[in-house]
Amino acid sequence: MSLKRWKSDEKLAERISRAIVSGSVSHAYIIEGDSCVDKEAFAKDFLKAVCCERMPGEGCDECASCRKIDHGNCEDLYVVRAEGTTTKSVKDDAISQLQENLQKKPAGQRNMAIICNADTMTKRAQNRILKTLEEPTPGTVIILLSENRENLLDTIKSRCIFYRLSGEENTDSEDLKDANRMVDALMEGENFFEIKNLLSKEVKSREDAFHMLDGLERIYRNLLLERDPRGKLFKKEEIFRAVDLIEEARRDLIANVNYNYALKNLMLKIGG
Ligand SMILES: [Zn+2]
Repeated sequence: MSLKRWKSDEKLAERISRAIVSGSVSHAYIIEGDSCVDKEAFAKDFLKAVCCERMPGEGCDECASCRKIDHGNCEDLYVVRAEGTTTKSVKDDAISQLQENLQKKPAGQRNMAIICNADTMTKRAQNRILKTLEEPTPGTVIILLSENRENLLDTIKSRCIFYRLSGEENTDSEDLKDANRMVDALMEGENFFEIKNLLSKEVKSREDAFHMLDGLERIYRNLLLERDPRGKLFKKEEIFRAVDLIEEARRDLIANVNYNYALKNLMLKIGG
């Protein structure tokens, strides 16, 4: 999915798009957000937008470059992760290996790196990456993902552009409102006739049905993370079961099962 999908950080995504289109891509970024925010996905969408020739600044999701980044087989993109059994950290060795990789000639326009959990880098690792940030190979883009940049050296922070992801769900979106009404009806134990009525009002096409499933899935995931106060009313197993059923309904839709049937079936199963 492209940068455009980040509705919760729409303004930031637009700002980034404009910067990319105007050719001002920096060589180092810190992208920060809470643990529940998928910062790696955002970073990948960011890099797709940088590399995509079809839709620069956005990412088309379809060209070879976008697909490679999505599928984790882009030869110019190096992803570094924290390691360790008890306390995970990004080790000096991993950064050293990264530096070697970044010296290679890229297959495309540039080398890129994502350092996940960069705020867990050991002091040695931080001092090492600092050298690369100080003298970057032209074109290289390095993205540091963090939950708390206070753990990073000031000298690193001062060399990176900083973005904070809010990750807040956009509760105004129509999809979510519709899906919320369904979840409320299910929770209030409305009879199936009422639920069927509600469905036929809100879902009038296959596309609506996909949106409804997206909305439902987000709501149930929020319930699981207890970002939604209604989460307390559910047992975790019930929520997992609902998420599985939603996935099953999505597979049915993709397999061209009638959307009305697929959704009614889903509601019956979740409610039952
Ligand atoms: Zn593309």
